[in-house]
Amino acid sequence: MKITNKHNVPATLFALASRSYYSKGKSDYSVTEIISPPQIQVLRRKHWQDMEQDVADMLWSLLGSALHVVAERGQAEGHTTEERLHVQVDDVVLSGAIDLQHEENGEIIITDYKFTSAWALRQDKPEWEAQQNIYAWLVSKAKGRPVKAVRICALIRDWSRREAAIKLDYPQAPIQVIELPLWPLEKTQAYIQERIDLHRDAKVRADFEEDLPPCSEDDRWIRETTYAVKKEGRKTAVRVFDNEPDAKSLADEIKGFVEIRKGEAVRCTGNFCGVNKWCKQYQSTFIGG
Ligand code: SF4
Repeated sequence: MKITNKHNVPATLFALASRSYYSKGKSDYSVTEIISPPQIQVLRRKHWQDMEQDVADMLWSLLGSALHVVAERGQAEGHTTEERLHVQVDDVVLSGAIDLQHEENGEIIITDYKFTSAWALRQDKPEWEAQQNIYAWLVSKAKGRPVKAVRICALIRDWSRREAAIKLDYPQAPIQVIELPLWPLEKTQAYIQERIDLHRDAKVRADFEEDLPPCSEDDRWIRETTYAVKKEGRKTAVRVFDNEPDAKSLADEIKGFVEIRKGEAVRCTGNFCGVNKWCKQYQSTFIGG
């Protein structure tokens, strides 16, 4: 991947961004790879040399890398940081690097650091749950140790003290530790098998130049169309609806108007997957919907 420096950031930061911190060790798949959509992975592998990203857009991934270094330095007694584990699944090797493990009464607690926004933290995060449970499975298989809990340590990028004071459902501190459901090992094993099969199938399709398995609505981060009821002279919406009839009815009642906020496939249109220009699914609809 080519890293550009369109905003003239200092050379040291640019050099840091240009260095690859990602490694999946001696494995065929990493945990992050198998939980992500197969179409994205195939396209990234195929077009890696032609992909481009500006250093200014890499702020959070750079800070993520920095956090891992800092966390290793501050390692508390009895804590294991950044351990990479490998397990053979049929004919492939799966690996994952776990941010933090510590022990309580003979059982392991797994914690992963995530930079996120206050809004994202309040949405469902099935990929976090899957990732942490695969780590738990790796710990059980590679180290033969039981896992007691899986957690996320969320670092909230846009945390606001003011919002925290006025909203009950807003995170009350910029760092939140969130307990995720721990799956039975059989469920995780079946999930891993299913994901590896999907990725293997996508690779074969790519080799034979067949259509790739499409990304689902969840994969594409679909944002639904909403209907905002507004009034002249007021900047913010009076209320936002997920359907037009209800919005129209309120707009008539208060003599306002309805502003349609068109939904979109955010991951595709914002090119958060990095491969939208090579993606037939996106190009065929252009807006990814
Ligand atoms: S552009 Fe959208 S559909 Fe295509 S690979 Fe990226 S996320 Fe998937």
